[in-house]
Amino acid sequence: MKKYLLAFLLIALCLPVMAKRKGENPVVVVMVDGLRWQDVFMGADSALLNNKKFVSNIKLNNEKFWRATPEERRAALLPFVWSHVAEHGILYGNRAKGSRMNVANGMHFSYPGYNETLTGYPDDARVHSNDAFPNPNVTVFEAANGDARYNNSVYCFGSWDRFHEIFNMQRSGIPVNAGWDASKNLGKTQAEELYDLIGQEIPHLWPTVRYDAFTYRYALECLKTAHPQLTFVGFGEPDDFAHEGRYGSYLESAQRFDLFLKGLWDYCQSDPFYRDKTTFIVTVDHGRGSEKWEHHGNKLPGSDETWFMAFGNGVKAKGEVSGGAQIYNKQVAFTIAKLLDLDFKNTEGKTEKAIPLK
Ligand SMILES: [Zn+2]
Repeated sequence: MKKYLLAFLLIALCLPVMAKRKGENPVVVVMVDGLRWQDVFMGADSALLNNKKFVSNIKLNNEKFWRATPEERRAALLPFVWSHVAEHGILYGNRAKGSRMNVANGMHFSYPGYNETLTGYPDDARVHSNDAFPNPNVTVFEAANGDARYNNSVYCFGSWDRFHEIFNMQRSGIPVNAGWDASKNLGKTQAEELYDLIGQEIPHLWPTVRYDAFTYRYALECLKTAHPQLTFVGFGEPDDFAHEGRYGSYLESAQRFDLFLKGLWDYCQSDPFYRDKTTFIVTVDHGRGSEKWEHHGNKLPGSDETWFMAFGNGVKAKGEVSGGAQIYNKQVAFTIAKLLDLDFKNTEGKTEKAIPLK
């Protein structure tokens, strides 16, 4: 009897140690709306860069983005990705090297793409428009917020105002700062007060999508003041500039995304709460038409082609993946769940394999 009691005590003592403690592995998820794998892995496309229809100042944009080789071009476009991430992380989706990632949903546009990526459940039956309906599926963010270890430590920031519904703000209770929202911080920092004012004072090119700098700045302030365990940062400019056929502006937005990614990472590495403990997951909601780059959807082939990168805690420095198994956006939710040690199931009660980070 005594032997059993001892074994029981030992298990009881070990249990709290086995479960992940608060602050052990913060995760930052960054998504970039409609940024093509072609530009991520090969840099600027000469056919688009030299087309007057898509680029107003061809000379200037060539100086900025054109280089002799794809390796030089992508490094000019995304310098942080092709130095830090390529050196310390893992990148999937370069189809020229046989690494394939796709969405599993049949829509190939934003809400279905975010839904699939964040809930692990492509839902063509219910999520087949970008309309403002509350997501019937539960995101891994909502699941984390419902877990005692992460409750009130989950924050979402997005340029597109549809993130209020995608994260089902009302049901999930997650603070979602998206579109042209002002800061929702109760004790606003001076910086947040300034961003709020500037957000009101500048022209809004798109009524439902704010400029990515605001999303970045609000997210950065939140990392500093609230130390979230799980943060979502959704950039939107590339998709909107692409739909307008403005390839130069689209590339500039891609370059700013790289700068913001570096800013978020550098901040995390400067703060003992995050330093050397944090994992970054970066991906996209859909591809773009290979014939018609401006747009995307299931009538435009190529629109289901996506990419994925990760770096930081728990990620091996593998660089660009060549070949390997086909992966899907629906696996991203389970990759996040694994990092958080969260028992997450999708709407059908199923799980998918996490994307290998090692
Ligand atoms: Zn779009």
